[in-house]
Amino acid sequence: MRREGETMGLTLAIVGRPNVGKSTLFNRLTGRRQALVDDQPGVTRDRRYGDGRIGEFTFRLVDTAGFEDAKGDTLEARMRDQTERAVGEADLILFLIDAREGVTALDQHFLRWLRKQHRPMVLVANKAESKAALSGLGEAHRLGLGDPIPVSAEHAQGLDLLLDAIRDKLGDKAKLGDPVEEEDEFALPADEPEFADADAFDEAAAAAHEKEIEKRPLQLAIVGRPNVGKSTLVNRLIGEDRLLVGPEAGITRDSIAIDWQHRGRRVRLVDTAGVRRHSKVIDKVERLSVSDTLNTIRYAEVVILVLDSEVMLEKQDLTLARMVLEEGRALLIAANKWDRIEDKPKALKKLTDRVEKSLTQAKGIPVLPVSALTGQNLDRLIDAAFALHKQWNRRLATSPLNRWLRGMVDNHPAPLVAGRRLKPRYMTQIKTRPPTFAFFMNRPEKLPDDYMRYLINGLREQFELPGVPIRTTLRKIK
Ligand code: GDP
Ligand code: GDP
Repeated sequence: MRREGETMGLTLAIVGRPNVGKSTLFNRLTGRRQALVDDQPGVTRDRRYGDGRIGEFTFRLVDTAGFEDAKGDTLEARMRDQTERAVGEADLILFLIDAREGVTALDQHFLRWLRKQHRPMVLVANKAESKAALSGLGEAHRLGLGDPIPVSAEHAQGLDLLLDAIRDKLGDKAKLGDPVEEEDEFALPADEPEFADADAFDEAAAAAHEKEIEKRPLQLAIVGRPNVGKSTLVNRLIGEDRLLVGPEAGITRDSIAIDWQHRGRRVRLVDTAGVRRHSKVIDKVERLSVSDTLNTIRYAEVVILVLDSEVMLEKQDLTLARMVLEEGRALLIAANKWDRIEDKPKALKKLTDRVEKSLTQAKGIPVLPVSALTGQNLDRLIDAAFALHKQWNRRLATSPLNRWLRGMVDNHPAPLVAGRRLKPRYMTQIKTRPPTFAFFMNRPEKLPDDYMRYLINGLREQFELPGVPIRTTLRKIK
């Protein structure tokens, strides 16, 4: 840009629909009196400039409040006219919303236009000093701009967080013009209808998401130690002898993906490297190739870990299972060669108990007894893979999550630290595949691990996410 190696000359523009608190923030950051602010939306103000400061960081600030009084036929036209100029000269946009009101249709509309300006943006959720702001904050995640920064312009809260966010954005010039990437999965439904409230908004987003998922093939991987029956299973599933099986097997085809249909939906079997390797006669050392397997897992959404029921759960099986969960994939266990088991109920109980005890990262991993040789239970296996896939892609609405969180925290409060109660104040799902949740709280670094486990286990139970790895992140708010 115009400036030469200078950091003092950065220009920030405060942008947002009327009444979200742009002038108040402008005044706060420039240290001006709040004389110009008024409760009435649309009180006349011009675009103003000021010298802003947060701590040691100084910048030039443009306020776009007042666009609603500019000339133009529609609100949109007026908005553009005034804001375009401010945005045009800004290095960074502070896109302001009112956290108490959540994301309104006008915010969405505004943002759609702003995105086309290709400026780095920080999403600022103002008026966040009250409890009423919590669900709005969660909703704001759905805008795909990363974490909304909760501030209260009026009460001078959250300015340090704002500074961090500004530094983050400006420090990483590579991200210039590309602010939407982050949470692509949580993009808004295409037609952006107006929503009566946050729940309706969430539900519509979730439904659109689910439809989208159903159109794509399920990316499935089948992993396991040598000789457990992977090739036999794959042959059975695709219903063709395309892969050669058995001790005398020759070299199989070199495909890395095989597509087939299951009850009208597409399944894509990814990377058969492990299968191919084993079936080469010359490679009879029967070592488990961890790197091949890891590669396969990374291409997959759902992974079927095949066990030999007669051997049950071995150390290597557990290693594979943990790899799958660590990679954030959905795990399904197929206990193969079930035809050879005599006392089936006893064997199944023993196996599920062991899975439950050994794989605590994801309680409730489905275990299905199957026989690749006879074909027994294979339809159910793929049904289970689809069901798991759906959970793995699940989007949970913000307000039920927060109702649940309040209950959990009330029933069993987190400990005191230095005389102050640790308190997760709100949460929201920030990603799917696997489900990932952010908890917002004071002093997140102090939250004990077992409290987090309490929350994760509760979450899994309440929202029915068995067998799916759940990720969490703790974020700081005052
Ligand atoms: P603008 O139209 O976006 O410039 O919004 P204003 O700065 O004029 O603020 C609109 C209204 O919101 C005024 O009544 C402000 O006092 C109020 N307001 C601004 N910031 C905050 C805040 O942090 N908390 C609360 N509760 N109200 C605020
Ligand atoms: P891979 O190394 O995991 O691909 O295992 P294979 O598919 O080559 O199977 C190894 C051996 O187990 C072969 O002799 C198969 O016939 C046998 N096998 C595979 N599935 C079953 C099954 O469900 N029941 C029985 N009894 N044998 C099986």
